[in-house]
Amino acid sequence: MIEPAGGRSARSWSDAIAGLPPAADWPPDHPWTVVAPHPDDEVLGVGGALAQSGRRRGEVHVVTVTDGEAARPDADRVAREALATRRRAEAVAADRALGVQPTRTFLGLPDGAVASRADELVDRLAELLDGVETVAVVLPDDGHPDHDATGWAVDQLDLAGRRIVRFGVWAWNWDADTTARLAGATGLDLDDESRARKARAISAHASQVTAVDGPPILPRRFLDHHLGPREVVW
Ligand SMILES: [Zn+2]
Repeated sequence: MIEPAGGRSARSWSDAIAGLPPAADWPPDHPWTVVAPHPDDEVLGVGGALAQSGRRRGEVHVVTVTDGEAARPDADRVAREALATRRRAEAVAADRALGVQPTRTFLGLPDGAVASRADELVDRLAELLDGVETVAVVLPDDGHPDHDATGWAVDQLDLAGRRIVRFGVWAWNWDADTTARLAGATGLDLDDESRARKARAISAHASQVTAVDGPPILPRRFLDHHLGPREVVW
């Protein structure tokens, strides 16, 4: 389905990202919520912003749509349940690495099939995002079916007057047109500490980034998109 070893290199984006205007009021001083399709997406997309919020003792909530149990599609039910448990624990370990203490909600929708439960996701997010001033969520055309369904679900909500911040996870691999993709994008500069914390948080997702029952799900070439000095948000 997704071939993380392919696609564009991080280097092919770096000049364009360096030239983006700085992200304004990001991360916010008030409580904010991240909606992540899988247990590692909040780290990959906005881990630096989370680390900066953590340093200010800011209040953050993370909604994880699936437990990421289907990362290895050939795994049986028992292996999937074990991976779900492991990945939820990795998400909490990543919080410690980032220096944040978010409240967390794991929705447990089926990994790889979020679109089949899209209406339910919209209903759950309507409750969870009620009154939340700033929501960070993956792009609706990020290029992974669960990501696109998650981005779509947030678009179905009436969030007038709220700030919706978008981040990319897979788009960096697939987008051919740098200029079109980066229209309206801004960059958050990561200081040394938040960048290092983000790298440690990515490493905390060991089931994804190390060789477990096969080669790493997320190889270094893909992770390079998320280890740079600037985090891009729209
Ligand atoms: Zn994901």
